[in-house]
Formats: sequence, C-alpha cells, structure tokens
Amino acid sequence: MQTLLLWLFYISSFYAFIPGLITRIFGFRVFRRGTSEHEFALTFDDGPDPVYTPKLLDLLKRYDAKATFFVVGSHAEQHPELVKRMYDEGHLIGIHNYVHKSNWLMRPATVKKQIMKTDKIIHSITGERTTYYRPPWGIVNLFDFAKKSQFKIVLWSAMFGDWREKIGADRLTERMLSKLQPGVVMLLHDCGTTAGANLDAPRQMLVALERVLEEAGRLGLQSIRIDDMIEAKEKAPEKQLSRSKLATVKLWLMWDALFHMVFRLKTVHPADPFLHYRYRSYQGAKVTMDNGEVISKGDKVIELHFDNEKLFQMSLKSRSMVHLAIRMIRSMEHDLPSLAHQVMNDPKMSDARALYGVTMINRGPQQFGFKVMDLEEGLFARATRIYLKFLMLIIHPSGQNRLKDHAELLVPKVLLMSMDQLNRRYADNGSHRQQPHARRVVISADHEEEMHDLNLAATAGSPPSAV
Ligand SMILES: [Zn+2]
Repeated sequence: MQTLLLWLFYISSFYAFIPGLITRIFGFRVFRRGTSEHEFALTFDDGPDPVYTPKLLDLLKRYDAKATFFVVGSHAEQHPELVKRMYDEGHLIGIHNYVHKSNWLMRPATVKKQIMKTDKIIHSITGERTTYYRPPWGIVNLFDFAKKSQFKIVLWSAMFGDWREKIGADRLTERMLSKLQPGVVMLLHDCGTTAGANLDAPRQMLVALERVLEEAGRLGLQSIRIDDMIEAKEKAPEKQLSRSKLATVKLWLMWDALFHMVFRLKTVHPADPFLHYRYRSYQGAKVTMDNGEVISKGDKVIELHFDNEKLFQMSLKSRSMVHLAIRMIRSMEHDLPSLAHQVMNDPKMSDARALYGVTMINRGPQQFGFKVMDLEEGLFARATRIYLKFLMLIIHPSGQNRLKDHAELLVPKVLLMSMDQLNRRYADNGSHRQQPHARRVVISADHEEEMHDLNLAATAGSPPSAV
C-alpha cells in the first residue's frame, strides 16, 4: 500500500507544475484567447478586398472598435491604400501568407518565404514590421520554422462560417452573439475570393457585425487589437490557466499536502518551502555513486521532494524557461547548504548514505553534485509515460507531436548524491569540506540557448528577463 501511494505521489508530483511549464513551452507560441474582463478581439482574414474592406473600416470607425487584419500578401500588394488606411485608423496588421494556400502543401522554407514577402509588403506600406501571423485555415505546420521565428501565431476561439453566403445575416448574428464575451477572439472574413468562400459573403458579415457591435456596446465590451490582448494576458500570468486546469492543480496540491502529512516530510526552510526530505530505505536497483560507493536496496537515504506549490508558482511567474531555470537554481543554492547542515546534525539520520530523488528536471542537477540516472524500467516508468501522454493530449491536441520534440526534458530521472559529496560541497561546519559553501552555479551559454529555443515567442520581442 505504501509503495502504491509512493508511486502515485511521484507521478503527481513531477507533473504538478506541468500546466505552468506547458504554458511556458507551448502556450505562448499559439494565441487563441485573451483573459480580458471587458475586451474581445475582432480578427479579419483574407483581405484586403476593394469592395468590403472600406465598408468594414467605416463600420469599425463608427463604433470606435479596433481590429486585427490578417492580410493575404498578394491582396495587400494590389490594394496598398487599404492597408495604409487600416494602419492609419489604428488597427493591427498581421500576415496570412502571400497567397492563400495551406501550409500543408508547402515546405517550411516556402512558408517562410511567403511570410517574409508579406512582411516586406506591409512594411513598405506602413513603415512598420509585423510580428503576428495566422496560417490559412489555422493549419500550423511550421514547427521547425516557428522555433526560430520572431512571429507569434494567432488563432481564434470562435468562428462562425461567415465565409458562406447562405448562412444569412440573422443566423450569423445569432452565432456571434452566443460567443460574445470577454477574451473571445472572433474569426471573420472581409474578402470572399478564397477557395471555398462565397464572393459576397462579407455582405452578411457586415450586417451581423454591426448588430454585434451594438450589443457589445450595451454589454460594455470593447474590441481591441490582438497585440493589446496578448500584452494584457502576459501581464496577468495567473489568469492564463483555465478554471479546470486550476482545479486540477489544486487537487494535486491537496494530494501533495496529504503526502507530506502521511510521510512526515521535513522542510528545509519552512518559511519559504522549496526542498522537503525524509529518511527512508532505498528501494531501487544497486547503483554506484560518483565516489565509488555502492548503494543497494535497504541502505538508508535522504529522499528529496520539491515543493510543488512553489514550483507551480515559479513556473507561472517566470517569463521564460531560462528565467524559471534560474529561479530553481537559486532556490537549490539557497536550500542545499541548510539541508546538509540539518542532516548532519540529526542523529537519527547519521547512517544515511546518500541524497536521493526522482525528478523530471534532469538537465541542471549535475551542477549541484548529483549523479543523474535513468529510472529503472518498470511499472512506475511506464505509468509516468502514459500519464504524460494523456496530459499532453488534454492540454494540446497536437501535444503528442510536440512532446516528441522535447521528450528528453520530460523524462523522469533518478538523482543521487553521496553524503560525502553533500558535506564537502555544502556543509558549513564540515572540517573536511574542500570548497566554500554555496558555490554559485551558472547556466552555460549552450544550455541557455536551448532553454530559449523552447520558449521562442514568449521572449521574442520582450526585453531579456532580469535575473
Ligand atoms: Zn484565410
């Protein structure tokens, strides 16, 4: 029973902060929805169109509504005056490829060319570069490109089939009103020349939009640009998680608290918990530590646990993966010397032979003197993988593919450090200590770049994180 509980705890504790981490890794890459209280976003694709775009701009002006136009490069080229007018009237201009073609049908290099060409056209008209991109039909197939890109991908949270004329203005109005709420990103079209659309469909859209803007005014809702909506969302990171995700996290944290109680975990700094630990018998396979000592089943070890609430808060508050890594490293530096001191001065722990922990944060721990090892293949390792896949599926529909790209980051590993090493590196009063305590750990440039890659859009365009 205790072993089962332990498994459950491990599985839950590694991933307790994953929603935050995933938001860091994937969440900023694609924007779908805001967290505003009084704002929503109107976005128009496929234009500009010489007939309907001017009418739309008139309408938006009348209601003092700001919108985002994802223009097709070739259309912008034909109607620069309309792009200029969008810009002059305070709307945001984004890219919707040079020709309206799915990214599935193009190689990443071609997609990049399409984007760059359109960016150039927009720049030549407005004098400003854009960093917002919406792929045709929302089909994102440019993972490789996006990794190195400065562009932010903007999708939507509500679409209505407005590209079809037969939907009619009444039904369209109804559909739009049912989705009219703060934070919604509405997808509409101001041009009907795309394959699958009807030429005069935007006429219905304009009728419906006027009614929706009227109602929005009554509700105190304002349409804003996507960049403003993203900025507001990034300023309120705690709101990035949906209610259901927060509920899941809360459940995790309750489980965490229960575990702490049942297993009587000690906390290194109770006022600012980061590391918890307990004295127990080692249960894993025989392993040789860096100093040549062998740990086998039954040996006493100090088992480490991160504070999940703290990790979760850290991941929410960090602006980037690098930032998160730095915070974690600083907390480790802060806690390890105290831990060494506490363990050394606890007679009940005098026969402990190693620090032991299981974690998925397996890139940095070597710097602290830990040996990092693969988890033994078995029920636990399998269960964590299944769980992770499941979680990724819930969090993002294409999560599985994305997971492959970062798989090595999310694999649980075993950490081990001999007591000898702990004392030498961290103990204050050890006479055999060789180094001054709290040696500062630096992130190598390589590591930093790697972490940065993971984060791309999150840091692109924003100032470097203060450390
Ligand atoms: Zn389109």
